Amino acid sequence: MCVPDGSFADLGVNQPIKEGRGIKPQEAIMGIKVVKFGGSSLADATQIQKAAAIIRADETRRYVVPSAPGKRFSADTKVTDMLYGCYALAEQGLAFQTELDAIQARYDDIIAGLGLDLSLADEFAVIADNFRKRAGKDYAASRGEYLNGKVIAAYLGFAFVDAAEVIFFAPDGNYDAEKTSASLRARLSELDHAVIPGFYGCGADGYVKTFSRGGSDVTGSIVADAVKAELYENWTDVSGFLVADPRIVENPAVIRTITYTELRELSYMGASVLHEAAIFPVRSAGIPINIRNTNAPDHPGTMIVPDSTDEELSAYTITGIAGKKDFTSINIHKDMMNSQIGFCRDVLSVLADHQIPIEHMPSSIDSMTVIVDSSYLKGVEQEVRTEIIKAVQPDTIDSEDDIALIAVVGRGMRRTRGVAARIFAALAHARINVRMIDQGSSELNVIVAVKGVDFEQAIRCIYDMFVTSVEE
Ligand code: ASP
Repeated sequence: MCVPDGSFADLGVNQPIKEGRGIKPQEAIMGIKVVKFGGSSLADATQIQKAAAIIRADETRRYVVPSAPGKRFSADTKVTDMLYGCYALAEQGLAFQTELDAIQARYDDIIAGLGLDLSLADEFAVIADNFRKRAGKDYAASRGEYLNGKVIAAYLGFAFVDAAEVIFFAPDGNYDAEKTSASLRARLSELDHAVIPGFYGCGADGYVKTFSRGGSDVTGSIVADAVKAELYENWTDVSGFLVADPRIVENPAVIRTITYTELRELSYMGASVLHEAAIFPVRSAGIPINIRNTNAPDHPGTMIVPDSTDEELSAYTITGIAGKKDFTSINIHKDMMNSQIGFCRDVLSVLADHQIPIEHMPSSIDSMTVIVDSSYLKGVEQEVRTEIIKAVQPDTIDSEDDIALIAVVGRGMRRTRGVAARIFAALAHARINVRMIDQGSSELNVIVAVKGVDFEQAIRCIYDMFVTSVEE
């Protein structure tokens, strides 16, 4: 149940979970696709009709995970943000009915546009009541997905399964994989088709709890894992991951296939389409994720595949380029540093004491450099420097900020000679000075550090070297 004291019993989330027939773990069920649609894919009736046409076009698209209605145009407000705003008023004891009515109007518009005979008036009365009872910020935000799920289930004629009955969080705040899988399997094994709203579940305290923003991606992945789907389709408003950031490179190519690990590398360096945590549930089950565009359903999108894949490699050798600005490099020099046991450890413990994570740590015989995100040094840089001096008595220590890191990622690097040479040739040709180089032992990425002013130009010239030159 998701209502410890019965105060939200009217939410209808505390029915007992029926013991189901279940699906044995690791048993891949051919023919089940789990489809998640993002907020922009469900922002209004027209978008929902597109999503429904996609679902109906393939009988194996059996389980649907919707987000809350997103933006209809760039200046619009997502329903989730409207709910947060509305609940903030309720929490302060201020009037919130006008704001709640505006949210209801969004759903009423959708319902009318879909020609449905459905009223959410009772649902909104319950929500208003629970807002007054301070049901919590997470409860408030979750209603976006909950209500959209109800509307979409009615439109598709699918069963509605409240996520608060089947997705559970552990006391540490992470989702409880075991309990969730068992309950999802039991429930879904009884249903050929169902809509399970994204973003929320039942917290360990019995109250509704959400994932972090964008968390419907995680719900989709959890559902796909629970039913051992053959594919998790994630429908959004772009045709997949791009080789480079379109704000930097004009009209970049779409990545056709990427492995889970490559994706981790790229998202760590700033590329984002999918929630960071969304790959973990399906990754362990080896289920691929297909990023697709609701507005261009014929485009194959990007396939995210297991690391052991023998999928065709990209024609470009590299899979993607991503990067981030605003790093600082701390350069420490000391003659004979190499023979001073514990030198690096002592430097790193100063950073650890200040809770500063390190990004990279290239070293030479008499010097080491530590690259850190500059924001962690704000207000403590002098103190950190003094403590490093005290800890290891270097000959010199200096730092340089405004460093940008660029990751060139690609499983194709392992089999191809000359990748690094081509990266450096591209940079040299553009007269960009490289401040640091790091190649991961996985041979999956090469990371270069450049001055912040060179960041965009560096990405463009690496893109041209590996992609434009191949396309021409
Ligand atoms: N609606 C939530 C958000 O805006 C979750 C999601 O869309 O995935 O973050």
